[in-house]
Amino acid sequence: HQNPKSDIEISQAATKRRILDIAKEKLGIAAENLDPYGHYKAKVSMDYVKSLAGKPNGKLILVTAISPTPAGEGKTTTTVGLTDALNYIGKKAMLCLREPSLGPSFGVKGGAAGGGYAQVIPMEDINLHFTGDFHAITSAHNLLSALIDNHIYWGNSLGIDSRRVAWRRVMDMNDRALREIVCSLGGVANGYPREAGFDITVASEVMAIFCLAKDLEDLKERLGNIIIAYTRERKPIRARDLNAHGAMAALLKDAIAPNLVQTLEGTPAFIHGGPFANIAHGCNSVSATTTALKLADYVVTEAGFGADLGAEKFIDIKCRKAGLKPDCVVIVATIRALKMHGGVKKEDLKKEDLKALEAGMSNLQRHVENVKKFGLPAVVSINRFSADTDAEIALVKEKCKALGVEAIMADHWAMGGEGAADVAKAVVKIIDSGKADLKLLYPDDMPLFEKVRTIAKEIYRADDATADKSVKDQLKQWEEMGFGKLPVCIAKTQYSFSTNPDAKGAPTGFSIPVREVRLSAGAEFVVAICGEIMTMPGLPKVPSADAIDVKDGKIVGLF
Ligand code: ADP
Ligand code: MG
Repeated sequence: HQNPKSDIEISQAATKRRILDIAKEKLGIAAENLDPYGHYKAKVSMDYVKSLAGKPNGKLILVTAISPTPAGEGKTTTTVGLTDALNYIGKKAMLCLREPSLGPSFGVKGGAAGGGYAQVIPMEDINLHFTGDFHAITSAHNLLSALIDNHIYWGNSLGIDSRRVAWRRVMDMNDRALREIVCSLGGVANGYPREAGFDITVASEVMAIFCLAKDLEDLKERLGNIIIAYTRERKPIRARDLNAHGAMAALLKDAIAPNLVQTLEGTPAFIHGGPFANIAHGCNSVSATTTALKLADYVVTEAGFGADLGAEKFIDIKCRKAGLKPDCVVIVATIRALKMHGGVKKEDLKKEDLKALEAGMSNLQRHVENVKKFGLPAVVSINRFSADTDAEIALVKEKCKALGVEAIMADHWAMGGEGAADVAKAVVKIIDSGKADLKLLYPDDMPLFEKVRTIAKEIYRADDATADKSVKDQLKQWEEMGFGKLPVCIAKTQYSFSTNPDAKGAPTGFSIPVREVRLSAGAEFVVAICGEIMTMPGLPKVPSADAIDVKDGKIVGLF
């Protein structure tokens, strides 16, 4: 189970097939319905996407995981490996992933195109610029920012209170220096100085809207609904009031079409959209997922972070809005990560430790129970690492059996699709049994704070959710304004069920404090911020950028 080559070396050594051939052969899409970006990437035309409307849907498989640890879990790798495995056992399957952000690529996480022999390719293109969607989203966002300051400059007829501008600027880079800035310095010609700041592009509401919009018309409508600022009387001002939404949609016209690439085994993959999983919902675009369901019998997709955040938002935000219904959930775990949840330090993960493993199973158990609350059948896919021992594997299998869920070893990282064939067979069996019966966690008409409380108690297992009067008053005001039916999007640490990132395993006896709430009126959700949430990450002391280089025209050092 050891790959002698790095992810990028495996990717670069692969024999890539022309994307037009993959589209034709695997999905039946003719060349005239594709806009190729070079030979190995293409956008599927929106006219073609529309023409698929009457076709039946394939089955939807959600890949989620235990609470993340520094030991790594491998959701993306499993999404790719499982889809290759479904094709390996003779099914027609494709996958949908988020587009990677440059921030983590040059920061700590490295690439986000899978790993080992379960990757989407060309990985350096996917990780760097790709088809320019993030550029388009950044530009649309910043166009609105420029229009706001320009409106104030030219007399401010809308009466925007420049202390209450809610719309910041974005760029796709981890750059802590830009978190809080003062803009419009330098005199009369440059406008009115005010405090402002930058977020990373994946945290932009335009990104969330882009991923939830059904089509260009819906996109434009939602962009118009964005609340950009308030007047001195606290009246909200929208992007529509500046007539910004048409020009913003114009910048997104090409980006909205799903991007098609292939896996190392020639399986078709859509990689489209990439919202943050904390202040946004953390999954690829609705347009990619709904299109994939028309093109393949099985569609595998990933939700960010652990199942408490990613799967809950996938279901309560994306599925609720888009009418999607998953047929099976795959919960990814690694023996390493379970041992970390059981208290083992990163340096000691290579040693067998059955006691810690058993203790760490509490984290997996809670996620398994949560998935059942959504009415969805699940299988646990253990992403195999070379140090896993037979005794450890046996223990996980036995404990899962007791939980009423099957745990299967998956070795796609080392072997490609063949290595995950058992998981693929189990997934097909679950889907054939037709057990899925999706239940949303809360109804639309539950009051906003009750929605937060329901997630906190049912999913995180908190005693309660708490908030200051000012936060509760704000929610009430939004309910009076007609936003009470929106789902809530909880922003909290991904490392624990609680708001304390160090509380691993399955903590109890805590409450979830809601520090702040934000209204994403265009994306159509209310964000409840619980704990410290970073919307502009920084780079570590030695960032991944340190190793990335280009030699003889080839990218090296990207993980
Ligand atoms: P996630 O989607 O959960 O964040 P990824 O699938 O992106 O995780 O995997 C994170 C990293 O771990 C990748 O660089 C990948 O190459 C590596 N990785 C995944 N599975 C394995 C494995 N079985 N053995 C070794 N490394 C792995
Ligand atoms: Mg991932």
